[in-house]
Amino acid sequence: MTASPTFDRFLALWAEIRNLAAASEVLGWEQETYMPAKGGSGRAQVLSTLAGIAHDKQTSSELRDLLDGLSRDDALDGDQAAMVREAIRLTDRAARVPKELATELAKCSSQALETWRKAREANDFAAFVPALSRMVDLKRQEAAAIAPGGNPYDALLDEFEPGMTEAQLEPLFRDLRTDLSALVKGVAEAGSPVSLAPVQGELSLEKQLAFSRLVVEAMGFDFEAGRIDKTTHPFCSGFHPDDVRITWRGTEDDLRPALFGLMHEAGHGLYEQGLPRQWERTPIGEAVSLGVHESQSRLWENLVGRSTPFWNHFLPKLAETFPCRAGFGVEEFVAALHAVEPSFVRVEADEVTYNLHIAVRFEIERRLFRGDLNTAELPEAWNGMMEEMLGIVPPTAAEGVLQDIHWSMGAFGYFPTYTLGNLFASQLFEAAGRALPDLEGSIAAGDLAPLRVWLTENVHSQGSRYSAAALIERATGEPPSAEPFLRHVRRLVEETYGAAAG
Ligand code: ZN
Repeated sequence: MTASPTFDRFLALWAEIRNLAAASEVLGWEQETYMPAKGGSGRAQVLSTLAGIAHDKQTSSELRDLLDGLSRDDALDGDQAAMVREAIRLTDRAARVPKELATELAKCSSQALETWRKAREANDFAAFVPALSRMVDLKRQEAAAIAPGGNPYDALLDEFEPGMTEAQLEPLFRDLRTDLSALVKGVAEAGSPVSLAPVQGELSLEKQLAFSRLVVEAMGFDFEAGRIDKTTHPFCSGFHPDDVRITWRGTEDDLRPALFGLMHEAGHGLYEQGLPRQWERTPIGEAVSLGVHESQSRLWENLVGRSTPFWNHFLPKLAETFPCRAGFGVEEFVAALHAVEPSFVRVEADEVTYNLHIAVRFEIERRLFRGDLNTAELPEAWNGMMEEMLGIVPPTAAEGVLQDIHWSMGAFGYFPTYTLGNLFASQLFEAAGRALPDLEGSIAAGDLAPLRVWLTENVHSQGSRYSAAALIERATGEPPSAEPFLRHVRRLVEETYGAAAG
């Protein structure tokens, strides 16, 4: 790296912005884990002050002038040029949103979140409409400020998946809907329901956590650089590669929420722990996009955690923790984990129907921001699309349009990153299999290190040096594609329900 006082000053300013963000993230993690119930409004004030200071720093004329100069500096090496490019992208976006709008968004989203919680509990969508309408209106204003005259939905998508557009997603979801609906139909026609007995029963939460911890340790999650705590909505927060928090929840009658929730969050956690230390607190030291982040969680949760090699090793261990599981064979266990059935709630959906839940949300969001749908019409649109895509209609709003937290927080354009994550996960896992010919053998021996090391080298340690699409292509040799994912779900349906279903 070439040293220059201007470049050093830019990095020093950027580190301050990152440190402020890390402080907010610690407070956000604490709010979801240990904060007493009445602490919410006090915490919102603290977070809003920190956000204001960070906004001021990110839009300061000193930083702007430094970046102007550096963008014309031919002496920068490739990494430095990438840092400047990424800083300009983020700073431009922040500068286009007037501070009053940013503050108003922060305030209204915190209020809308509380309104949503109560509306969902009361199963009363009408009670949520005014707050939701206000959020949609503010997000429209934000999109217009970021990309005047452009497609508002693209401006929103860009926050979570830089460079992604509605025009790229539309054909992707259209094709996925066709292929996945055919699989769901095939499963229904096969008429051979799979028994869930292997994963259900009376299972103490304490022991579930102990077993899950064993798995997370085998994945390579570093407990000296991270910890596990309980929450109501599981998530992962990384403040620094040496300080990563994952969270969990579970139920006493089913193994899946705790174990797969923790494998999922630990997959996110490994990404955070594997970020490049040499670029720490620089604009390219962080995860590249939410889609790539989600690929890491879904890869461990679904492609490793629900696979036969994995249970060849871990089923005997599970039976040590829960002797009542000793009578089940690996085949029936894995079949239970691959059961396909349309359901109302996205977070509980199987691998085949999951992306149809995302397709419903994508369709609703684009209609909302095109102005073809207003918020009061959401339940009808939601139920109609659920019937069309999954063949079922939720009996209540709480199990339907009110189930997700995202829209109350103004996170429009976030859902598609879940589907991108599923697609990237399969593509990366196939590439890891080509690079590591004995991948299945090592997983079956309980040795998950070769896979983690491959992911760290090819994904985690790259930070945001490359775009998401370029990163996937460098790691897999192919541009992003839905084919590996479709191969995976077809295979799992065939293995579970017979060749005719796939
Ligand atoms: Zn996730």
